[in-house]
Amino acid sequence: MFLMLMCLGCSRGASRAERANVLLISIDSLRADHLGCYGYERDTSPTIDRLAAEGVRYTGAVSSTSWTLPAHASMFTGLPPSAHGCNTAAGLHTGHRTLAETLREQGYDTAGFWSGPHLHPAFRLDQGFDTYVNCASHDFERPRSKRAALAHDDVTGPKILAEVELWLEGYERNEERPFFLFVHMWDVHYHYLPPSPYDTLFDPEYTGPIDGRRPGPEGLIPRDLEHLIALYDGEIAWTDRHVQGILDALERHAVLDETLILLTSDHGEEFYEHGRFGHRKTLYEESIAVPLILRYPGRIPAGSQVEGVVSVTDIPATILDFLGLEPIPDTGGRSLLPLLDDSDQPREMLAISELFRQRTHWLSVRSEGWKILVNHDTGSVDGWWNLQADPDVTHNLAKGPLSPDVERTVKEARRKLLLLAEQHQRQPEEERSLPDELEETLRELGYVGEDE
Ligand SMILES: [Zn+2]
Repeated sequence: MFLMLMCLGCSRGASRAERANVLLISIDSLRADHLGCYGYERDTSPTIDRLAAEGVRYTGAVSSTSWTLPAHASMFTGLPPSAHGCNTAAGLHTGHRTLAETLREQGYDTAGFWSGPHLHPAFRLDQGFDTYVNCASHDFERPRSKRAALAHDDVTGPKILAEVELWLEGYERNEERPFFLFVHMWDVHYHYLPPSPYDTLFDPEYTGPIDGRRPGPEGLIPRDLEHLIALYDGEIAWTDRHVQGILDALERHAVLDETLILLTSDHGEEFYEHGRFGHRKTLYEESIAVPLILRYPGRIPAGSQVEGVVSVTDIPATILDFLGLEPIPDTGGRSLLPLLDDSDQPREMLAISELFRQRTHWLSVRSEGWKILVNHDTGSVDGWWNLQADPDVTHNLAKGPLSPDVERTVKEARRKLLLLAEQHQRQPEEERSLPDELEETLRELGYVGEDE
């Protein structure tokens, strides 16, 4: 069995894919189930749907958490949040190894294009990038003129596209080196203020008061919520158009089919399915289920689907495996490529998501059969759901006796997390103070304070 797997690895690594370029796209706050290719009824995502049709779609992908900073740290290191520790203003410890650092050592040109405040270099997610370009509409260093218009009246898609195009112009002069591009797209994040015509695309008849801003704690009446979701969907369609722009730019530079494309998101978004709005509130599926799509013609079979639970922590191992490179050691993430070409590979895996909230360390443990919420501090199981019978996670079985299968799954997940946290423990680094304007932006987005 071992020899057979080695052989599969060799045949994969021996092709033109060995020095392929890599494009990792993270669309902030993008729920998987609001994309056509994941079954959504609205036409929000023609480009992303096409990417999925030309590549593989992992149907059960989840994030490692439900908010931006630790989720991206997981995408970059392959570690869960309790192991990378990037959950506070201290950001990502420089002792952790990142995907960009690994690829740079292998001779890759590495460039990151970011557009939301948690990707600011103050949080040290820029580790390993030769170039790390701010594509937000402001620099987070100086006060902005219109304070009331903060947060997300700015749109970032056009700037990201322009910066990526500019970078590719320069790249043509250095084409002996492959590239790793990371693109963080922010426009789907609240507030939902897509430019025309995307603001009326999915709910043109609406005449009520909702304008796409984050609602208050009092909630919304159903018709207003419907409109808010239509605006969220408008942001997805607007962003999808800019994903197409990036793909077009790759094609103009004749590198589209020489580039491994991985599209995902850092977390989803809650629309009161379990009583809350936004993200970083809970670990229900609407908060953590994300798209995960890979495209590389000739090596990734077009139109494939892989069932089973996978995680954004699998991203570094998957990309490095594709390129025939060694994985970052001991991350707990795994390559998702064997799931493509070996039907004997076990599908039954665990995906763990974590959230530190209200002084409690929460876990979501997701297996093929179960969704389980756990208080990791005490080990107590807060709720569990049978996903075969209840895919929408509406019937909490916590009132009944704990099934031995659930108990075993929780034990395994907790043991794995504790081991990784121990292995990757680091001496704390000196906290950097964040620029005032960055902190102000985070506060206005609701990210400062224990309950947010
Ligand atoms: Zn985010």
